[in-house]
Amino acid sequence: MPVVLYICFYTVNDTVKPMESTTLIIGASGQIGIELTMALRKKRGNHMVIASDIRPTDDNDLLQGPYEILDVLDKAALESIIEKYNVDEVYLLAALLSATAEKNPEFAWKLNMEGLFNVLDLAKDKKISKVFWPSSIAVFGPSTPRNQTPQHTVMEPTTVYGISKLAGERWCSYYHERFGVDVRSIRYPGLIGFRSEPGGGTTDYAVDIFHKAIETGSYTCFLKENTELPMMMMEDAIRATISIMEAPASSIKERGGYNIAGCSFTPSEIASVIKRTLPTFSITYNPDFRQAIADSWPASIDDSKALTDWGWKSEYDTEKLCATMLTEIGKKKYTPLKPMHKLIV
Ligand code: NAD
Repeated sequence: MPVVLYICFYTVNDTVKPMESTTLIIGASGQIGIELTMALRKKRGNHMVIASDIRPTDDNDLLQGPYEILDVLDKAALESIIEKYNVDEVYLLAALLSATAEKNPEFAWKLNMEGLFNVLDLAKDKKISKVFWPSSIAVFGPSTPRNQTPQHTVMEPTTVYGISKLAGERWCSYYHERFGVDVRSIRYPGLIGFRSEPGGGTTDYAVDIFHKAIETGSYTCFLKENTELPMMMMEDAIRATISIMEAPASSIKERGGYNIAGCSFTPSEIASVIKRTLPTFSITYNPDFRQAIADSWPASIDDSKALTDWGWKSEYDTEKLCATMLTEIGKKKYTPLKPMHKLIV
């Protein structure tokens, strides 16, 4: 029986270019980027997912496949990477997050908006065919209903980050309506993962608290004890991201950003759950400028539209999230676990 071998690489300007189209992640060294790169490479293969970031990395997982230094504000460099690797879909994660953005509003606006335009314009010019761009619960503001915040509601954000995300949503929707760009977006809540460090958001406390609980047994929280915010385990966020990108285009009815929910809790509630595993854990509160940001955001989110349109459902409640964080951070930091902080999850 004849055997036909298909060679799936060809050479352009001394670079090996895959014939099959690839996926580019911009901002791959960040909190979400590392985990998304790993998840997509598991599905597509290491060399089909191009990780890129403005900073170099020594992360072994990121270096399992191509890793490019790329400033998303440099449109020519972005275009040349898209050409070099035959990129077809882009996940744009590079941004300044809420707390960092308040310290540098002008640059936050530049990075968060120009980076998006660079990618949307390449999609408009048919150089790529699909874009993922994350929005955030920061699109909401103090005049938004705080509980079970609906998909469509009052949106008057008071932070530069929230303003940039709301403007970004409107531009995504505009590029879809006007130019047929297939862009998909999720309003992430605060994301909690054990694999990578958070990048300067208002919900970062909900990651730090687990590290400090295990390392030192105490934590000083920069939000007040009763500040309830929507949160989500990173595994859920990655699953949501990949599933919205894999959904048929006809099922994506919202081209701005979908509400998605995981669980909601306050610092004191999360501290109580941690105490059940680490009974000597203690928490104190020293609110800073991030309190005002948190006060302007929803406490919980109605994500029924994402369920109806593309089948989204969270798998992590607060208990499961805490148990996972304590176990995984414990494993990473203490093998074998220090007897003092032995976990009882
Ligand atoms: P992060 O800060 O951890 O990562 C962002 C990455 O982008 C960093 O590695 C950074 O080096 C890179 N970057 C910065 N400037 C760049 C540039 N000019 N060109 C290329 N790369 C650049 O952020 P994250 O938490 O991974 O968030 C990713 C996206 O998700 C952002 O758009 C953020 O607004 C959104 N989001 C995150 C959360 C969360 O809780 N982490 C919640 C809501 C929305």
